[in-house]
Amino acid sequence: MRPPVVAGQFYAGFESSLQEQIEWCYTHEYGPGNVPEVKVGPRIIIGLVSPHAGYPYSGPVAAHGFRALAEDGMPQTVVLVGPAHRQTQGVFVDTNKRWSTPLGQVEVDLELTKEITSKAKFIIEDSVAHFDEHSLEVQLPFLQHLFGSGFRITPIIMGVNEMSQEISVKLGNAIVKAIKKLNRDVLVLASSDFIHYGIVYGYVPVTGSVSEILRWIKRVDQETISKIEKLNVSGFFEVLKKYNSTTCGFGPIAVVMTAVKALGAKTRTLKYATSSETTGGGGTSQIVGYASIVFEK
Ligand SMILES: [Zn+2]
Repeated sequence: MRPPVVAGQFYAGFESSLQEQIEWCYTHEYGPGNVPEVKVGPRIIIGLVSPHAGYPYSGPVAAHGFRALAEDGMPQTVVLVGPAHRQTQGVFVDTNKRWSTPLGQVEVDLELTKEITSKAKFIIEDSVAHFDEHSLEVQLPFLQHLFGSGFRITPIIMGVNEMSQEISVKLGNAIVKAIKKLNRDVLVLASSDFIHYGIVYGYVPVTGSVSEILRWIKRVDQETISKIEKLNVSGFFEVLKKYNSTTCGFGPIAVVMTAVKALGAKTRTLKYATSSETTGGGGTSQIVGYASIVFEK
């Protein structure tokens, strides 16, 4: 079993405080407004882009995506695709049978994991790459808050060198083939934040007042998001290159774009905001963009 590694850091460390924190995200000024009830739903959401910062920063934006999932109903399996924040080489599926958070345990869909791995030979089966990575773990409490332990997960981490267009497209297509072969009702979730601006991130392409910088970040993120909305994978990579983008999970986003395109999807951006807005912080030393984007068949 994979134990939680960022409980008490990225999100509250105990069950009751974590439930409260998730409800705070839903009812936050930048959240969707209310804590959702899970419905049987049409199950048309097949992809999601969701942020992965600490809940006080990105939780209210993330809550928009999870509210849409609540209304859509529970998928059988959530394929979680995230970037490695630690320097590592490879694409890694996890070999643990279960993941745990303060809200309980979730089973890994080992059958789907194996099927995806058999269709993309570059994938490495390795728990070590997953052990200290937060980008997938932070998605779990929101899913557990909605669906308990009724769903399973397939966790996939991509190293920065593997987040190329070529490998992302191959992985996206392998996921689609595996979903079709096993006839699974799957949600493919890309865990990513958008522009990381500021001296803290070594990324200061423009300077100016807080409002000027926020305007620039939003413009660049909107340009990136418009390519995601059009499922234009090569255009998406061109925008990343144009701005030397600090969007951390660009490979996972391209994986989801590829998968939902093959499955036939329409895109809806539910919410975009920066950490400057969600926290009410005034500085420019670190500002991060967050978005919740759903893909519906
Ligand atoms: Zn990140």
